[in-house]
Amino acid sequence: MKIIVQKYGGSSVADADKIKGVAKRIAKKCKEKVKLVVVVSAMGKTTDNLIKLSKEVAKKIILRELDMLLTTGEQVSASLLAMALNDIGIKSKSLNAFQAEIMTTGDYTQARIKNLKTKKIKKLLEENDAIIVTGFQGITEEGEITTLGRGGSDTSAVALAAALDAKCEIYSDVAGIYTTDPRIHPQAKKIKTITYDEMLEMSSLGAKVLHSRSVEIAKKFGITIYCGSTFSDEEGSYVMKKNIEEPVVTGLSVMDNQTQVTLSNLSLDYNLVQKIFNRVAKEGLNIDMISVISNEGLNISFTIVEEKKSHVEKALSQILKDMKGFNISYHSGFTKISIVGIGMKSSSGVASKFFKSLESIPIKLVTTSEIKISCLVEEKYKDKAVKALVNTFEL
Ligand code: ADP
Ligand code: ASP
Ligand code: MG
Repeated sequence: MKIIVQKYGGSSVADADKIKGVAKRIAKKCKEKVKLVVVVSAMGKTTDNLIKLSKEVAKKIILRELDMLLTTGEQVSASLLAMALNDIGIKSKSLNAFQAEIMTTGDYTQARIKNLKTKKIKKLLEENDAIIVTGFQGITEEGEITTLGRGGSDTSAVALAAALDAKCEIYSDVAGIYTTDPRIHPQAKKIKTITYDEMLEMSSLGAKVLHSRSVEIAKKFGITIYCGSTFSDEEGSYVMKKNIEEPVVTGLSVMDNQTQVTLSNLSLDYNLVQKIFNRVAKEGLNIDMISVISNEGLNISFTIVEEKKSHVEKALSQILKDMKGFNISYHSGFTKISIVGIGMKSSSGVASKFFKSLESIPIKLVTTSEIKISCLVEEKYKDKAVKALVNTFEL
């Protein structure tokens, strides 16, 4: 039995007509003598709206209840798609995470898949043409409902493909992976192939076309991910082991809403650096770009996402409460811009080109890895910086 896993995102199933359109695509595929496992996201902006609603009823959100709420979105689209399919003669059944046994850790709103049992899906595929599975959802050993983090349906799909040893196709409102977000920069070019490592950087640096955890799983199990459009048959992009094109810079990612936290004039105690980051980590907060400079005193600067600012403020005020003479500042409204490319490993001069093209823009922080360079700029310079980098690296 040849199985293909397909995933359709929120914009692909945003209303009844779109769901019927997806059903037609599935019906066409089923004619090719394959069985489909179809992962769906919640319709359109459902998840955003449910989050908004939760904030209207309570000041403090209980994450367990939030997951109970958010998982309803995927259940609506999965059942509707199964109905639409049966209506056009495609035998199909929908399953939620509990029924599909998608086992996760108990970290509400950011659970990780631990184990995926496929016996039931395989058995159902014998009697059906397509099995529809709710994306984004998981279940713990204790029977608690979890979610995999925003955008997590991609991860559900790749994990299912790995467990079923199937091909994985992810369909969305864009025709593949582009050098930069095509909705913001229509001149962006489509990438034919991209390596796991490049895509991991692109996703974690802001390209939401794929959930970064889905790329991690694909890399671990050697699953090629095909990304294409739900609304056209245009050839899409492949995330795989090798980048056949091998450009020096493959793509550019942008992440808004960054806050820079700066601690200056701290006493020259190197233990303090560890203490500060340890305290912040304990709160489950993610710190990003970091700079530590020591001269007469110690100066530490790092970035966080804007919405975590009050959490960081709280953590820092606790750890620094007995210290005097230092300054602390929080500046919001920054954007992180990154270029990514496997070719950077073997080519020199990329950094110099990067800084040359940004010479008239004040850069606040920089971080690099073997295959990426990121810089932090004020949001007002974002368009100018992106334009300059897109031109320089022919993206
Ligand atoms: P879905 O709801 O189908 O999961 P998403 O909205 O999560 O779709 O992801 C698709 C969106 O990702 C596109 O509409 C596009 O704006 C955005 N995007 C950001 N960076 C890129 C990129 N480099 N290539 C393609 N799309 C990108
Ligand atoms: N519906 C969820 C979200 O909006 C999961 C997904 O779209 O992948 O984040
Ligand atoms: Mg998505």
